[in-house]
Amino acid sequence: MKFFLPLLAGSALAESYEGHKLIKINSAEKFDFGLLKHSRVFDENKEEIRLSVDPRDFKKLEKLVRINGGEIEVLQENIQALIDADLEKRAARKYESPANYAYNEYLDFDEWQDWLDHVTGNHPNEVSPTVFGYTAENRPITGLAIPAIPDPQKPNIIMDCGIHAREWISPAMCRLFIHELMKCSEEHNYDRCNPTIRDEFMQLYNWWIIPIYNPDGYAYSWSDDRMWRKNRTPSVNGACLGTDLNRNADLAWGTEGASDNTCSQTFHGDGPNSELETQAAMAAVEYVQNYTNNGKIHAYVSLHSYSQIIISSYAVSKNVYPQDPKNLNHMTRAGGLVAEAMSAVHGKSYGYGQARDILYPSSGSTKDWMLDVYGVDMAWTWELRDTGDYGFLLPADQIDPQWDEFQAGIIALFEYCRDYMN
Ligand SMILES: [Zn+2]
Repeated sequence: MKFFLPLLAGSALAESYEGHKLIKINSAEKFDFGLLKHSRVFDENKEEIRLSVDPRDFKKLEKLVRINGGEIEVLQENIQALIDADLEKRAARKYESPANYAYNEYLDFDEWQDWLDHVTGNHPNEVSPTVFGYTAENRPITGLAIPAIPDPQKPNIIMDCGIHAREWISPAMCRLFIHELMKCSEEHNYDRCNPTIRDEFMQLYNWWIIPIYNPDGYAYSWSDDRMWRKNRTPSVNGACLGTDLNRNADLAWGTEGASDNTCSQTFHGDGPNSELETQAAMAAVEYVQNYTNNGKIHAYVSLHSYSQIIISSYAVSKNVYPQDPKNLNHMTRAGGLVAEAMSAVHGKSYGYGQARDILYPSSGSTKDWMLDVYGVDMAWTWELRDTGDYGFLLPADQIDPQWDEFQAGIIALFEYCRDYMN
């Protein structure tokens, strides 16, 4: 049997989560899940562990929790059913024009590209795309300038989506944001737009957006494994494939809060900035710097999920960088306003704070890199919905309410930049 294993591992068979339950274990104990051969741990933090449990492993899990202490909570009965809901919507879109793709559905990578071509073709004065690199599987990494011809004298805001493949709500928000900016540039939508977005966003600022930072990972999360996080580039010398693109940047690279094990979800890559995606982001931000003659970049926002927290730099450990960032006060105030605005919309609570104060430290993150290497004034990860009931599997019917919240948050951020960062 062993002989066939490498073949199977390399095949295009999609990973099935049929009958897998999404489980939360409330426990501060360390568990050894080695016996659960068919199950996968997604998340471990101080008080809880989340994993997908195959029915064959459920009895073993119960025993493990009995021995170690803790409590099992079944969050979702069948993970595959959640995945299938999005696959069925994609099947129904098959003959639709990209112009008609619904905004409250998740698009796969190819659909995203088609939609982007449609939008950039229709709005040549409002948005211009630049390909800043190609992935290992030869997908383009595209950055957008909005407006299409930015004014080098104006301040800038940089945003990216989809660093982590399975966090589908992130590119969905980039898409809605791009759409909103285009919509509000059209006269006939005057009454259907928030006045601040309509009258100030593109007039006062240049927006630079990488809507899908990790195209290979994102495509793979549709084709093979919905729970994939990293990119899809093999390591030079390691058993597993894929680098965590939020640990790969050349800022305290390879120190605390990243793994040198290629099989880890937080593998930092073979070297600082080793990954093609990181290099594309570097090319994009250097493009912004050159274009604006080192103009002000007031904010960098990287959209992730989940946990509903507006997380500012630093992520890097205090052992590595003892001092806090010089703009921590600004980031704390602005982050608080963003969280407050987002929480007010639908009553879903968003938190905020400096990453290393409220979470575990991590190294090589894009936000610290943007802050320290590229001189961005304020840098964040915005963790979107939810708080874990669905986690990465957030159903598409939450895209609309998430957009309401994101819109409130980005307006709050914009107003802070406009009023305090000049
Ligand atoms: Zn993420």
